[in-house]
Amino acid sequence: MSKAVKRDYDRLPEAGRVILVGAGPGAVDLLTLRGQAVLNKADVVIYDDLVNQELLDHCPTGAERIYVGKRAGMHCMPQQEIGEIMVREARKNRWVVRLKGGDPLVFGRGGEEMQALTAAGIPYEIVPGVTAAVAAGAMAEIPLTFRGAASAVVFVTGHECANKGDHAAVDWAALARTGATLCIYMGVRRLPEIARALAEGGLNGDTPLAVVSNATLPQQRVHVATLGLAETLSEQLRGQPTLIIVGEVVRWKELSQVAQPMAFGL
Ligand code: SAH
Repeated sequence: MSKAVKRDYDRLPEAGRVILVGAGPGAVDLLTLRGQAVLNKADVVIYDDLVNQELLDHCPTGAERIYVGKRAGMHCMPQQEIGEIMVREARKNRWVVRLKGGDPLVFGRGGEEMQALTAAGIPYEIVPGVTAAVAAGAMAEIPLTFRGAASAVVFVTGHECANKGDHAAVDWAALARTGATLCIYMGVRRLPEIARALAEGGLNGDTPLAVVSNATLPQQRVHVATLGLAETLSEQLRGQPTLIIVGEVVRWKELSQVAQPMAFGL
């Protein structure tokens, strides 16, 4: 068996670098050991909404904490400004941790942050995290792939930015035809529309879906329904971080109870 390679952060240059760390889906013990080792060394940590704030306890006491999420009723800090903060802090020769919910490179605008750091010539690295789709599947005990039922999984956003080019638009009808399990991020508000588009693409109204909100947290809820009943769920769940799983694999959860929306906790 090959020997596990563990990153030795004490051997890296002390300062002037940014580490984009995946905080995981919410539960504090779903941070990776690597993420924890990096936080232990932070001079400054830049974090946003979906990050469990208890994770900041892994930082040294004197570490500066910079919140860049959206406070109630206010908009997110513009991405450009977040980039500028990371660059500014790294230029102070500090060890900068950019802590992001889930995995930093899955719908987390980590790509833009890497671009900003590259443009400024700041060295960076990425520490992966448990992304919401994987956490939601595990917590709801829904296998995202299943021999004979689903051979592919799609991570897709239910919320598209207005300024994206056409190539980024989601072709729901095409996705409906793949037979893949669909893991929809940021999709609760538009769920009725999405369900209609999937139905137009040929997905049967009986196709089961699971809606998992606050996965891995004490307030976790799993609702199981069918595509045809998606509208009711959308109204109930707005405002919570929610992941929608669509596909036959959801039958694994509660085969007999998909006829009505149903909720169960942890
Ligand atoms: N980078 C993150 C995703 C950021 S986009 C990741 O890899 O998970 C934010 C969306 O992720 C939310 O709108 C929701 O759809 C999903 N999400 C994040 N945390 C979640 C959780 N604990 N439970 C359910 N969905 C979650």
